[in-house]
Amino acid sequence: MNALTNRAKPVDRRKMNFMERIYLVAIFKGMMITFSHIFKKKPTINYPEKTRPFSPVFRGLHILNRDEEGRENCTACGLCAVACPAEAITMEAAERQPGEEDLYREEKYAARYEINMLRCIFCGLCEEACPKDAIYLSETFAPSDYQRKQFIYKKEDLLIPHPLKQPEEYKKALGNKVKREKAN
Ligand code: SF4
Ligand code: SF4
Repeated sequence: MNALTNRAKPVDRRKMNFMERIYLVAIFKGMMITFSHIFKKKPTINYPEKTRPFSPVFRGLHILNRDEEGRENCTACGLCAVACPAEAITMEAAERQPGEEDLYREEKYAARYEINMLRCIFCGLCEEACPKDAIYLSETFAPSDYQRKQFIYKKEDLLIPHPLKQPEEYKKALGNKVKREKAN
């Protein structure tokens, strides 16, 4: 039979001698390998207490953006849903009513906005398609869970904190977005 690679190693089927049968040498060799790793730099980190720096092009959990006055940017135009190759975005539009000008920036807004994170492939096309700077992919992971329904993120889960009412949380959620925009 022709070998696909030259990495195949023939099995050693000869009879073991006394030293091999008591396995002491093999155990010693194994322990030496273990000890040699004690003094090496650990490749693992204590996640979640510590995290690795993200790549500048990392795309994580989505954020629905507000303007500087805290009004929702999204106008429920549907372009993000059309651009999404995974059909992960669902929304329902509603008309802004008189007196809601401080809640929604435009006359139309998303009354319902959902992303199915189990479908999402974090490609970022929704962010690119949005003409209103209303959605972007942050540096946060979608946390793991045991139930599928927990991965349907609703508008309340996605909306960025209010910049005037929760300035600290807003800044944190914004993350490197500002830096990235300046670099582009
Ligand atoms: S990141 Fe890609 S797959 Fe995920 S919701 Fe946006 S467009 Fe769809
Ligand atoms: S997030 Fe942007 S593209 Fe998607 S519906 Fe809202 S305004 Fe339109």
